[in-house]
Amino acid sequence: MPELPEVETVVRGIRPWLVGRTIQTVWCNREKQIKHLNLVAFQERILDQQFVNVNRRAKYIVCDLTHDTLIIHLKMTGRLYIGETDNANEVDRWVHLKLGLDDGNQLHFSDCRQFGEIHLVADKASILGKLGVEPLSEAFDLAVFNQQLHQRKRIIKPLLMDQTFLAGVGNIYADESLFRANIHPLRVSDTLRESEVTALHHHIRAVLQEGIEREGSSVSWYRTANGKRGEMQDQLAVYNRTNQPCITCGHPIQKIIVGQRGTHFCPQCQMNLTSG
Ligand SMILES: [Zn+2]
Repeated sequence: MPELPEVETVVRGIRPWLVGRTIQTVWCNREKQIKHLNLVAFQERILDQQFVNVNRRAKYIVCDLTHDTLIIHLKMTGRLYIGETDNANEVDRWVHLKLGLDDGNQLHFSDCRQFGEIHLVADKASILGKLGVEPLSEAFDLAVFNQQLHQRKRIIKPLLMDQTFLAGVGNIYADESLFRANIHPLRVSDTLRESEVTALHHHIRAVLQEGIEREGSSVSWYRTANGKRGEMQDQLAVYNRTNQPCITCGHPIQKIIVGQRGTHFCPQCQMNLTSG
């Protein structure tokens, strides 16, 4: 699933094409991906609205329109890109929504597995209200992070992926930041020493920033807004590297299931200390 760096890359790719443009046509052949509204109501409401701004919040693409906000979650296989009507794209057969713009371009949403979500809402807090802090923002404060980890007493890997705790981190970047900080994914959050929290705070930001610079990790379905693969997948130290040698110590990377998600780590570099 696309995480913060992948969604940020998509947003940066489509923003210049959308801001200032007005929606003139709507085509949709998969109504169930539009949440809370039927297709006719969606069409009536979105037509003639202009894209005022396009941003990311957690893993959501947030398009402020004249009156409403169009919020898209790509989930497993969603892709969002600017398409020209007769420009065949490899994913065009899974395009379920096309918004025609006043300059003749179209915003295409394709989704092979169809788990993606499209919301059109007057109040964006109804979708985004419960999200946690953005890890690349100033608000992601080390002292607050330390205090929250000690209050929560939860297994660290699923806690990092909890969108109400930290926004935008998913399986890939949780595994990578824990590896970089030498923290076992099963550690309980209140057992982390101050030095470990400092390292984790630093590496969460660093790995996400690197992910953005490399335009995301194309480990499966994800592509940038112009259809390219990202380059971060080649830099991953543990994710998807089960049984391959650790880049630091050579020990085989191990895969376990934590909170129902495949979790990759180095048993040597990330020892399971149960207490500080
Ligand atoms: Zn190692």
